[in-house]
Amino acid sequence: MDDQAHAARTTWNLLHDWWSMLPRDKRSLAAADAAIRQARKEIEWLAALPAQAAQAVLKAYAQAWRNCWDGRAGEPVFKARVRELMSVDIPQGRDLHIVRVHRRWGMVRIPLVGRVRFRWTKGLPVGKHANQENRVTGARLVRDALGWHIAFRVQTLELEPEEHMGPEVGIDVGVAVPLALSDGSVYTHDEWSTKKEQATLIRLERRAARRKSFRKPRERTSRRLRRTYDRIQGLRARAKRRHLDWQHQTTLAIARTYGTVVVEALQVTSMVKSAKGTVDSPGRNVAQKSGLNRSIAQEAWGRTVKLLTYKTTRYGGVLYKVPAPGTSQRCSTCGHTTPGSRESQAAFVCKNPDCGWTGNADHNASRNVLHLYRMGLAAIPAAGRAVVRRAGRVKPATAR
Ligand SMILES: [Zn+2]
Repeated sequence: MDDQAHAARTTWNLLHDWWSMLPRDKRSLAAADAAIRQARKEIEWLAALPAQAAQAVLKAYAQAWRNCWDGRAGEPVFKARVRELMSVDIPQGRDLHIVRVHRRWGMVRIPLVGRVRFRWTKGLPVGKHANQENRVTGARLVRDALGWHIAFRVQTLELEPEEHMGPEVGIDVGVAVPLALSDGSVYTHDEWSTKKEQATLIRLERRAARRKSFRKPRERTSRRLRRTYDRIQGLRARAKRRHLDWQHQTTLAIARTYGTVVVEALQVTSMVKSAKGTVDSPGRNVAQKSGLNRSIAQEAWGRTVKLLTYKTTRYGGVLYKVPAPGTSQRCSTCGHTTPGSRESQAAFVCKNPDCGWTGNADHNASRNVLHLYRMGLAAIPAAGRAVVRRAGRVKPATAR
């Protein structure tokens, strides 16, 4: 698989090189296809990649330019060996021959590799469940520090969900708690790594730094150092997996319970930037603020919202985004805003003498978020019922 992934990356790089050198009027998909065929004949080890996967590289490259021209992404660039995630595409589903051999295990045929076992974690439309509308249309193999993973592209026909009549809820990306809901419930989690894993990680990082300090300039990374790097990556990947699992579980629970979900339209990157300030007016308390911002980034709020968006839609609910400013400083009971009325990150104390409400700061903010929605300030109705409705009673959905 590694050989295939390296060949796929090289194919991309050769293609990008070829495309960039060519005069504008000579560029075409047919010419690119011919160039790839030529390269596969001339460079022996490129043949490690099945011809169809090479075609998929061309398709992805063409799509990358289309994304660029439509303003969704920057120009395609070369893929570096170290930074890039290793991946191989299998563009056709019928070559896969997926069989379930056990409750937890399945078998799949990978081109040029053979039959391999994979953990069966989700329902797949194969065997007697497969038909014209519901089928596996392809797969993608991706390698992280813990090994190779397969993601199946699946086309299924889903009934349009009934409108979710559940209650409305506001959600705040918490500081003291990861997710605080306006009805008072909270979603928390433990650290993503155990104490033992954290200790191991620190030890390995020190070891890597020490070994790296002995490395002479331009010398290759030693095998021992590489092994240490692999172990560090493995520990981080495991923590990341736990995080993703938690996000999936919590967002699913929210999408099932509530019909209307309101979140802050939060710009994580701009918050990280604003703490630093500018040259003329440098930010104050940069360390504390960027520490806070780092933890916000760590909570991967963006991904939570992304998961919530499609999960609420699937359960017939709607996700709304409201502008964020002031939600953490306004009292959710009387509406009184006092900049700096937050005694600490965890507690909120209202400075209005007639009110004096105290409570959890994240809970307060989530109530404000819901309040802003009820005032009609939801600027962005994120992909919701209305969009799905137009598609008709039954919509074909493509999911990974
Ligand atoms: Zn108050």
